[in-house]
Amino acid sequence: MTEAAIRALIRDVPDFPTAGIIYKDITPVLADHAAFDGAVEAMLAPFRDLAISKVAGIEARGFMFAAPVAARLGAGFVPVRKPGKLPRQVVEQEYDLEYGTDVLQIHADAAAPGERVLIVDDVLATGGTAAATIELLRHVGADVVGLTVLLELEFLHGRQRIDGVPVHSVVRDGSG
Ligand code: AMP
Repeated sequence: MTEAAIRALIRDVPDFPTAGIIYKDITPVLADHAAFDGAVEAMLAPFRDLAISKVAGIEARGFMFAAPVAARLGAGFVPVRKPGKLPRQVVEQEYDLEYGTDVLQIHADAAAPGERVLIVDDVLATGGTAAATIELLRHVGADVVGLTVLLELEFLHGRQRIDGVPVHSVVRDGSG
């Protein structure tokens, strides 16, 4: 499955969820076995031999890619969640949205100090979500080895907000 074939399955949905947003619908990639398999392989490829022991997936669409990435890397899975979802002691990080702020949490024992963690999400847009996730994992002492996404919206320059962590994207959209 080529990058172009995966790209062709990502659909633009104008004005969703609000006016002016072009929503990138990745569900056709999930629905196509060859595309889903190829996307997961392409997302994990640069990190295959980097002794990753945990893969952190960002709620909710990040989970869909992070779980198979974790299984194929022989790593565990860590959910990065919105408040009120994780039942035990958590650490949390606030981050900026276009209007207002939001919060992400992980369990305080989600990764051990020094553990090598790969972060997975579907889309890298402004980078705020990924940057907050890096902060959370560093807070518990994890070694954040990389960030991998299916789609990077290059025109939003999210990569510039990712401090000291290699960023890998399978499909890049620079059209804005
Ligand atoms: P950001 O924090 O701006 O990088 O936003 C990243 C998060 O928001 C990811 O978890 C994406 O799932 C979601 N997201 C942001 N922009 C879009 C978009 N245009 N289409 C689909 N999902 C998006």
